[in-house]
Amino acid sequence: MQLIRVHDKQFEPYLTAEEIDSRIKMVAQQINQDYAGKRPLFIAILNGSFMFASDLFKEITIDAEICFIKLASYKGTKSTGHVITAIGLDMDIIGRDIIIIEDIVDTGKTLSEFLPQIDHQQPSSVKIVALLHKPEAMVYPVKIDYLGFSIPSKFVVGYGLDYDGLGRNIREIYRLAE
Ligand code: 5GP
Repeated sequence: MQLIRVHDKQFEPYLTAEEIDSRIKMVAQQINQDYAGKRPLFIAILNGSFMFASDLFKEITIDAEICFIKLASYKGTKSTGHVITAIGLDMDIIGRDIIIIEDIVDTGKTLSEFLPQIDHQQPSSVKIVALLHKPEAMVYPVKIDYLGFSIPSKFVVGYGLDYDGLGRNIREIYRLAE
């Protein structure tokens, strides 16, 4: 097994680029079916979801829009739980079908704080697509409508996800080695 070092920690391979790719295609297919005849607006949460959002959106074959917002800062290997809106949502979402793109749902805090802000703007519907979910870490329950992978509560990097700013450019997903 090929361990890699990111910053000061060792990580082991967890999900290959092929596994991620084929799962994303399946998730996108489901969204294409469910939203046929509609024109959903995807809202991707930066920074972590940029790579997932890009690959997912390329597989969307129905009419769809995408925009990007920035909400949370995440430091080290634990969720800081501090949500900040750095880049605002500059689109009118009244009556729109919204699909929020998140990289990973850990405690659920980020989404549970953000969802009321979205609901407040009276969209027609709101669904969540997340690449990863750590069910054991869930403290604030959020319904994930489309999910890539359910994973154990171990810190992961790669495919857009960072450890102290590094590792986002890795094509695969690695997890903290014991
Ligand atoms: P939550 O608010 O659900 O606890 O955490 C969501 C955010 O925490 C994610 O968008 C992500 O930025 C960060 N996060 C949670 N778990 C991990 C992880 O294992 N690796 C990385 N790199 N970020 C994580």
